[in-house]
Amino acid sequence: MRKKEERGEGRLGALTYTVIKTDRRSISLSVDRDGKVSVRAPRKMSDRQIGDFVAKHERWLLGALSRAEARLAVPEPTEEEIACLRARAKRELPPKIAQYAALMGVKPTGFRVTSAKTRFGSCSLKNSLCFSLYLMRYPEAAIDYVVVHELAHIIHKNHSAAFHREIERILPDHRARRALLKAPPLNGE
Ligand SMILES: [Zn+2]
Repeated sequence: MRKKEERGEGRLGALTYTVIKTDRRSISLSVDRDGKVSVRAPRKMSDRQIGDFVAKHERWLLGALSRAEARLAVPEPTEEEIACLRARAKRELPPKIAQYAALMGVKPTGFRVTSAKTRFGSCSLKNSLCFSLYLMRYPEAAIDYVVVHELAHIIHKNHSAAFHREIERILPDHRARRALLKAPPLNGE
């Protein structure tokens, strides 16, 4: 049986973060969409070791926090804008899917637009694709990346090296495209 996680708190200057200790082997730092900072660490790791790890990653942390802040500053779309994004997704995604599917030699079995906020796309075990209407708030280069990513899951149901090679083959600049998804969405339209 699994033991429960232990929660605590740590500080780095003015910043507080949540420490979650579980039966894991490595330590990881994350900033969620609301700008909350969490550290997941192995049970046996001391507060001092955790504090050192966070301090070592301060630069990354400050960058991630300012990105989260910039994202929060973009207003949520109104109902009308959401309807517009959904319509655009239904109109603009199918031709992109068809174009890249032909290039990659894959055949998706379905297409659906969702209103998922944290997941831009998914590919089911039966190779049916879902895309979030919120994806349409990003530049076209980023939209194409998500389309290729989900199509690549028809070939590889994981994020293995082979999966990334397939994406690289189709979009050699995939890293820059993916970075666009981490930036705040475009405002308006
Ligand atoms: Zn994926």
